[in-house]
Amino acid sequence: MPAQLMDGKALAERIRREVAEEVEQLGEVGLTTILVGDDPASEIYIRRKQEAAKEVGILARDYRLAEETTEEELLDLITQLNADDKVDGILLQLPLPDQIDEQRAIEAVDPAKDVDGFHPLNAGRLWLGLDGLVAGTPTGIITLLDEYGVPLEGAHAVVVGRSNIVGKPVALLLLARNATVTICHSRTADLAAETRQADVLVVAVGEAGLISPEMVKEGATVVDVGMNRTDEGLRGDVDPAVAERAGLITPVPGGVGPMTIASLLRNTVKAARARRC
Ligand code: NDP
Repeated sequence: MPAQLMDGKALAERIRREVAEEVEQLGEVGLTTILVGDDPASEIYIRRKQEAAKEVGILARDYRLAEETTEEELLDLITQLNADDKVDGILLQLPLPDQIDEQRAIEAVDPAKDVDGFHPLNAGRLWLGLDGLVAGTPTGIITLLDEYGVPLEGAHAVVVGRSNIVGKPVALLLLARNATVTICHSRTADLAAETRQADVLVVAVGEAGLISPEMVKEGATVVDVGMNRTDEGLRGDVDPAVAERAGLITPVPGGVGPMTIASLLRNTVKAARARRC
């Protein structure tokens, strides 16, 4: 029997309606996005985030800086936004051009406004199991797993990919939910042997179709984070044939992507609420 699809689009819509109500209660909530340069993929992401924020009543401001912007100019803007009381959330779209030290820019953002959860203070709070702002994609994945009643406690979760924005934080969130977690990466000796152990398999690599059906345990829950532009259109990291073997699976598109944006909106409201206390 083919896997049941985990519909991130429908759940994200519901979350957006809840966020809209919270924004109304709070009065004014402000999100500022910063895009340096004109990377076409980044432009699409920023446009989607801006549209989603406006749709729920968040005051969204969009800074577009030239490709040749210096690190000092960017840091000056971030300092201004940190001090601006109308700004609850700051979202710095990555990657940044080479002349800018990405880590320095991330660390310049006030952790209280760091709705992407990339600042070391928020990453550290996640590591310690303390409340903080957690990146949108990992949070969205856990919300989706909960929506479909996927048991995490005692489950063997395998995460493929160890990036700071997806792999590592999702592994920590799964651990916090008492899953037994394995993290795989490009040097993992026998990837298939690891993934076949997974009750819950999360794949965030960036290689279309990397996970084939024989790499998946029958009935497993499979979360496909990959967004790969191919000649055949947008493809995940998981071969679509895996749907014949898995119990639950996220579609690409319409799975993790919409959940990422919904979680970003939730983070913005959370940051706004915390700043008003
Ligand atoms: P990164 O490039 O930062 O990380 C990729 C990870 O995959 C690395 O840890 C790398 O290992 C590992 N890897 C690469 N090749 C292999 C392999 N053959 N076997 C096992 N592991 C491998 O990517 P991101 O985490 O930023 O993104 C991953 C994917 O998710 C991309 O397709 C991206 O577009 C998508 N994405 C989707 C989002 C959404 O909202 N749906 C949000 C964010 C990302 P190593 O560390 O050893 O190099």
